[in-house]
Amino acid sequence: MATTTLIRNAAWIVAWDAAAGHHAYLRDADLAFSGNTITFVGKGYAGAADETIDGRAVMLIPGLVDIHSHPSTEPFFRGIREEHGVPAMFMSGLYERSFAFRTDAEGRRAGKTVAYCEMLRTGITSIADLSGPDPGWIDLAADSGLRVFLAPGYASARWHLENEWQLKYLWDEDAGKRGFRDALALIEQAGRHPSGRLSGVIFPAQIDTCTEALLRESWEAAEARNLPFTTHCAQSVNEFNEMVARHGRTPIRWARDIGILGPRAILGHAIFTDEHSWTRWHTHDDVRILAETGTSVAHCPSPFARYGHTLEDFGRYRRAGVNMGLGTDVSPHNLIEEMRLAAILARVAARDIKTTSTGELFHAATVGGAQALGRDDIGRLAVGARADLVLVDLTNPFMLPARDPLRSLVYTAADRAVHSVFVDGCKVVDAGRVLTLDHAEALGLLAEAQARMMDQVPSHDWARRRAEDIVPLSLPALV
Ligand SMILES: [Zn+2]
Repeated sequence: MATTTLIRNAAWIVAWDAAAGHHAYLRDADLAFSGNTITFVGKGYAGAADETIDGRAVMLIPGLVDIHSHPSTEPFFRGIREEHGVPAMFMSGLYERSFAFRTDAEGRRAGKTVAYCEMLRTGITSIADLSGPDPGWIDLAADSGLRVFLAPGYASARWHLENEWQLKYLWDEDAGKRGFRDALALIEQAGRHPSGRLSGVIFPAQIDTCTEALLRESWEAAEARNLPFTTHCAQSVNEFNEMVARHGRTPIRWARDIGILGPRAILGHAIFTDEHSWTRWHTHDDVRILAETGTSVAHCPSPFARYGHTLEDFGRYRRAGVNMGLGTDVSPHNLIEEMRLAAILARVAARDIKTTSTGELFHAATVGGAQALGRDDIGRLAVGARADLVLVDLTNPFMLPARDPLRSLVYTAADRAVHSVFVDGCKVVDAGRVLTLDHAEALGLLAEAQARMMDQVPSHDWARRRAEDIVPLSLPALV
């Protein structure tokens, strides 16, 4: 018999109102789960329970769904990426960084462990992990306790730089095909894992680095296996201009024309549309195309905001009918803080406080992400859903006064108030401590690996610069 856990008298439950299609507050109520499934949400639970948790100082929220992350590489960029950008590439540092800063396999494992720990501690329970196919990935994902949608990336070309302003491509179509085959094998292996928490996403890495044939074959594979499909699209002005130069069409329109948009498609990040103020193309169709095809957007505000970029704007996409999900494209892997930033940037971009709301952002961080991944059993607290849930500590000073605890969480406390986390009915975080992985050990290994990466920068960088020359420290050293 499955063990039943009861959270009795939760002060607040963010419960799923299926009839209305949105989350709603439920006060002073109970939630029970048996094994990995929620069996009761409401008042006056009368059944038996093997374990009872006092919920009087708790807000229960569904585990967050992160639909775009790069755990194997992004933790390396702490202290580097926050202020790195190339003005001659419309401020994006993506190409210079991925060219010059390269990590080794041992380091990527440490990075992944650190990222998984950050995700768990901040209340994320499901992730799309967009990474290279490193050995040991499946076991590490399973050990983390997270629900992981493994998205092994592959491409027909690599970005190449010979100066500061020009993005070039080194094509190797066979490498793309091999990567695609390997990705399919890895996804199949993940799907068979006995934990039942692993599955896959088809991930041709970028719209500009994959041939049309590879993108089409990838889409067919996703359809045949009923898997989500994701790629980076409309993520930079350079990419937008490159696709216009190749096809005379915006990246989003071209994606639609070659048949890779639809309800199983997730675009990271769909920022640089035909109407974006940094592209100013002559059409006005891209957002409508996303809505009409049922394509989801993985919105990750942090990395872009640091360059000075923003989606224009979250509320407009929503009103157009686009399914919006959120991701943690970079470190920190903190979806609560991404909700806050997304709300603020939407209002700045729209010059309108009413363009979006905390409720809409929370929807994106839960149900919107679940929909993008083709799941109706995660991202919600409802009978029959998976027991992926977060206990938020209402006594944390940053939550008080908890007049509207979701606002306290999003605008003030964030992960500081995340007390415990369950995934698939198993406790993975207790009192803010990750129970499944060794966070401290991984941080030590990550620091060593970051130092190795920094040492190697001159041998990769197009101008043979040192890491310190590309990204100086934020203050000068006193001598
Ligand atoms: Zn990304």
